[in-house]
Amino acid sequence: MAYTTKTRTGHRFLGNKNTKEVHDLEKEDTSGSGCQIDEILRADNAVYFIPDTLAQAKSENYDNCAKCLGSSRR
Ligand SMILES: [Zn+2]
Repeated sequence: MAYTTKTRTGHRFLGNKNTKEVHDLEKEDTSGSGCQIDEILRADNAVYFIPDTLAQAKSENYDNCAKCLGSSRR
């Protein structure tokens, strides 16, 4: 399941429920045109997954962020 969060702390994968993209916080692209995690949190669009795995995000139809995970299907 995906749960709303207001913090990046304690999770590896963070989803944007607005764009349905998932980010790997261990590979976060912090450049201006990168993942923009702070923007996702500020817009209240951030979710985390239980279990905290890419497979779980995929099973909920989240797509890879092209910046940190690559292989986006879009
Ligand atoms: Zn990303």
